[in-house]
Amino acid sequence: MILVAGSLNLDLVVRAPIPRPGETVLGGELARHPGGKGANQAVAAARAGGQVRLIGRVGHDDAGSEFRAALAGEGIDVAPVTATNAPTGTALVVVNPAGENTIVVSPGANLHLRPGDLAPGWFEDARVVVLQLELPLETVRRAAELGHAAGATVLLNAAPAWPLADELLRDVDVLVVNEHEAAALLHDVADGAEMADALARRVPLAVVTLGARGVAWAARGGGGRLPALPVTAVDTTAAGDAFVGALAVALGEDQALEGALRFASAAGALAVTRRGAGPSLPRRAEIDALAGG
Ligand code: ADP
Repeated sequence: MILVAGSLNLDLVVRAPIPRPGETVLGGELARHPGGKGANQAVAAARAGGQVRLIGRVGHDDAGSEFRAALAGEGIDVAPVTATNAPTGTALVVVNPAGENTIVVSPGANLHLRPGDLAPGWFEDARVVVLQLELPLETVRRAAELGHAAGATVLLNAAPAWPLADELLRDVDVLVVNEHEAAALLHDVADGAEMADALARRVPLAVVTLGARGVAWAARGGGGRLPALPVTAVDTTAAGDAFVGALAVALGEDQALEGALRFASAAGALAVTRRGAGPSLPRRAEIDALAGG
């Protein structure tokens, strides 16, 4: 069982020129997609072949019901996605004709998931616990502690970028960050491999994703680099989420580290070949085909 505890944000996306303060513009048709790092990584892991349970909070609203139905449709156990008296988290996204975007996130119900809401029973059969930083930090901390106590591998994707106390990292086995997030955790370290080495002094395994330049990893016994798989990139949204979900599945299957990183890289590479977040998350057969080829 892969247990993900994280955010659920409904993405409301409209194509329009980005308005200046005080300006009103007309946009295209509104699109609604389930998103948020928690939901995306849960879907990524389920499609990569994992049995997945998601812990999260939504509102007593239509978006909350839509989320439950969409995630259950992916085969995810959503029993620990509970409703609270706050609106479901929402991201307001404007994409301009040049493909640039502005995003406002209203976390809403996500901030109502408190440490005391985490039932230890949800963690008991977890092999891997997957966390990000879109919930209150004390909730992330408690989830790491419960995962560790249950004997699971605790994987923290420290995104969005945030400086972290060693206290939170104490129960983390695998830290996954992109370069920008790594920079928020380190001072004056520029190169990906050096970043991974520096982070591996704080956690047993550190993985730094480098976009089209692949991935650098370091553990106490050593480290290495893996080039990205060659693909034609059209939209890099959710590459990191695809990578994390697939890595969790591979680690849960006890794949050896280099094989697990290659599997995760294949998932990240496939995600950049398609537009959007949810629709771009790849399935097991295609990940295996790219990773094995
Ligand atoms: P994030 O989306 O968190 O910024 P990255 O951009 O580092 O994360 O992407 C995560 C992983 O996805 C990379 O380590 C790589 O394996 C894969 N990936 C991302 N962009 C590309 C690309 N253009 N070509 C091939 N693989 C990519």
